[in-house]
Amino acid sequence: MFGPPGAGKGTQADKITHTFKLYKISSGDLLRDEINKKTNLGNVIKSAIDRGSLVSDKIINDLMDKILTNRKFNNKIIFDGYPRNLHQALNLDLLLKKHNQKISYVLSLNVDKEFILKRIMGRQTCTKCGSIFNKYFKPASDKNHKCGFDFIVIRSDDNEKTISKRYQTYLDKTLPILDHYKKLNLLHEIDGNGEIDQIFEKISRIIAPQEA
Ligand code: AMP
Repeated sequence: MFGPPGAGKGTQADKITHTFKLYKISSGDLLRDEINKKTNLGNVIKSAIDRGSLVSDKIINDLMDKILTNRKFNNKIIFDGYPRNLHQALNLDLLLKKHNQKISYVLSLNVDKEFILKRIMGRQTCTKCGSIFNKYFKPASDKNHKCGFDFIVIRSDDNEKTISKRYQTYLDKTLPILDHYKKLNLLHEIDGNGEIDQIFEKISRIIAPQEA
């Protein structure tokens, strides 16, 4: 699942996971788990994330090798936020070959920058259940969320300076990967400006025929 930061990749990946009984692997979540463990590796990761830079390919490739070794996930993964550059994409091709798995679809959400700023600056995440809300579009309330407000946080990298840097990083480093997948005939581009359910419908029409 591709798209600039705040394009709604995580939200759509959650819906796909639920509907098509897949597992979402978010490299950002794996990295934040490592930070929460307060290890040396976690500190290195935190400083890269807080600067709005990418974490080193070696750290990411090692994490993903571990994931693809797990038989539970065999050909049932939706990646969110990975691969982030061409080197990671080429390494993923090698890892999939090694573990005898393949990519079925590459989905790219195209979203305007102004829309993204609101989405990201308003993003609220529950540290207990992982649900994502938005101060502007879908605020957390006691009706739509049971864990309570004590668990709702704004991510430390969700500020305007870091967001602009991450957006530029996406254009420079991640967009070139799409050409790689276009050549392999795997790429589906989706208009991501709009309601969550409308976008999900478009995605389902791409994925569903194979499921039926
Ligand atoms: P995300 O949760 O996908 O928005 O990622 C948050 C931050 O984690 C990014 O801005 C990067 O610093 C880092 N990150 C996440 N995934 C990757 C990846 N595949 N490669 C390198 N850095 C990553």
